[in-house]
Amino acid sequence: MLPEFVPIEQLNIAQAQQEIAHLSDQLNEYGYLYYEEDSPIVEDYIYDALYARLLELESNFPQFITPDSPSQRVASGNTISNSSSRGLMKIVHQIPMLSLGDVFSLEELNDWDAKTIRGLDGYQPDYNLELKIDGLAISIDYENGKLVRASTRGDGNIGEDVTANILTIKDIPQTLTEKITGEVRGEIYMPKKSFADLNLQRENNGETTFANPRNAAAGSLRQLDPTITGQRKLSAFFYSTNNPDVFNVNTQFDLLKRFKVLGLPINESNKLISKMSEISEYINQYNQKRDSLPYGIDGVVVKVNDFILQQELGNTIKIPKWAIAYKFPPEEAITQIKEIEWTVGRTGVMTPTAVMEPVQLAGTTVQRASLHNPDYIQERDIRINDYVTLHKAGDIIPEVGQVLKNRRSDTSLQYLIPKYCVSCGSPLVHLEGEVALRCINPSCPAQLKEGITYYASRNAMNIDGLGPRVIEQLLNKKLISSIADLYTLNKEQLIKLDKFADLSAENLIKAINNSKNNSVERLITGLGIRGVAVKAALTLAKKYGNLDKLITAPAEDIAQTNGLGEVAANSIKVYFDNPNVKELIDKMKNEGLNFDYNGVMVANSDNYFYNKKVVLTGKLESLSRNNVI
Ligand code: NAD
Repeated sequence: MLPEFVPIEQLNIAQAQQEIAHLSDQLNEYGYLYYEEDSPIVEDYIYDALYARLLELESNFPQFITPDSPSQRVASGNTISNSSSRGLMKIVHQIPMLSLGDVFSLEELNDWDAKTIRGLDGYQPDYNLELKIDGLAISIDYENGKLVRASTRGDGNIGEDVTANILTIKDIPQTLTEKITGEVRGEIYMPKKSFADLNLQRENNGETTFANPRNAAAGSLRQLDPTITGQRKLSAFFYSTNNPDVFNVNTQFDLLKRFKVLGLPINESNKLISKMSEISEYINQYNQKRDSLPYGIDGVVVKVNDFILQQELGNTIKIPKWAIAYKFPPEEAITQIKEIEWTVGRTGVMTPTAVMEPVQLAGTTVQRASLHNPDYIQERDIRINDYVTLHKAGDIIPEVGQVLKNRRSDTSLQYLIPKYCVSCGSPLVHLEGEVALRCINPSCPAQLKEGITYYASRNAMNIDGLGPRVIEQLLNKKLISSIADLYTLNKEQLIKLDKFADLSAENLIKAINNSKNNSVERLITGLGIRGVAVKAALTLAKKYGNLDKLITAPAEDIAQTNGLGEVAANSIKVYFDNPNVKELIDKMKNEGLNFDYNGVMVANSDNYFYNKKVVLTGKLESLSRNNVI
């Protein structure tokens, strides 16, 4: 919650000095967590409001502005200039990468417009309007059209060398369509779908989730291991350069068109306007559309279109005077928590969900929001019947923000985190290094249900007709207690289930039996081993050719498999060493499941197909597209 600020005119000098120092420290701390750790602890609008207060205080008491004030540094709190905490090399920007000034209302935009016109001796410039992409800035050098270097903004003067990581992002061209030598700048972002998938996967693995797509993009780009960046499905839009001459254009509008011709991805929602009064339609249009865009935006950037006029206006130490960001208001609602529900996932992680009084938020009715893990509840001291603020993280997932403690009843009690699994009653554990609570009982019914559902899912064994409702009935009626039992089911047993007719029972038995012949990567995926999803399962199947060979392979050998690494290799060993798993694998073998890889094994370098792509057109008689891949 924001503090209530004392009106500036009521402050004495000592109070103003103290508040400036306090706000500087607080914002530097928030900046450190946001820029360095990629894990902010306050919402952006709270940071923005505190920053606006600091600017107001500093403009009234300029004698107290210090060099380490957030108003004097790009990305303050960032420690790049001392050392890159992640071990990435440093790159000095030839021309600093600046931040943007921001405004929050049309009135402030008009003031900025008037100031800009004054700065141009009364001349009204054209403005190019662009969407403010919620990501992190990147600078890329091309030499003779080839990508040679990429760096983050860092503290504006020194960034981190992320060349290897950038090369893994397929939307960024490694070669331009012309042999240009020059620098381009843009925004790396994580599409909303990739963000939602990544957070779900992290939640299932008991890892902390990213607060929003911007932090997820930053955390994914600034990795020492570029293969991790490659897995995170990042994308980019380019919008500026520090050497426009190279691109032979005179305006921002034409620069974007030129970038497109060169093969650089641009955001094509930009619009040229000749006076500020034309902006409100654009702002309204995108404020309404923002939920439906596949990437996050947090506002609109207004740029003086003509490069000569931009130069005439110049920059401050932190921001260009020829551009401004209009930030969208945060979409927030207040509602009451009625209940906290816990569910057990496939890997045993028990996740809390707040069930709330239904409320309208950013165009949808919201009633449930994940509370992620026990720390999340305890840090915020969330209690049943509390009134809370609710917003959409990165405009996608509803998230509980602050508790309105002043609306809490005197009789309210602290929420007690469960000690036992809600499904099987086993004691819960905190595994080392995890924030999640886990049930480690291998025969926990909730885990079994989730595990079997995953096993039958399209990406794994693809068993048509075997959905969560059928699985729940099979478990409740004790017809199955493991994946292997699926293969012992018969038509008579299925007909007794709710809503099952002759034909559907027959079809399900057929689908289960057909799955026995699947190529082994589907089975490896379906086992749900931590850290082994579809792609890794396929790589392992291709490398070892057979499940028994994978089971007996040494951890070091598995770790060397392309894109896997030690953590996944250890997790595979731990999984197959478990006596319950050994029993399961034996049962599957006895039921006649195929343990072989049915596709083409990894070719070695003297094979004709080594490193070649084969393109087939037309229809294959026996294989579907999925089988071919
Ligand atoms: P900013 O993100 O508000 O604006 C500048 C950045 O916008 C540029 O560097 C560029 O990366 C980006 N951008 C996106 N689209 C663009 C386009 N079309 N043209 C030009 N630039 C574009 O400023 P900042 O200095 O990067 O960060 C400050 C903001 O970050 C704050 O206003 C706050 O919202 C957030 N922040 C939050 C916390 C927190 O704890 N929640 C802490 C620090 C900063």
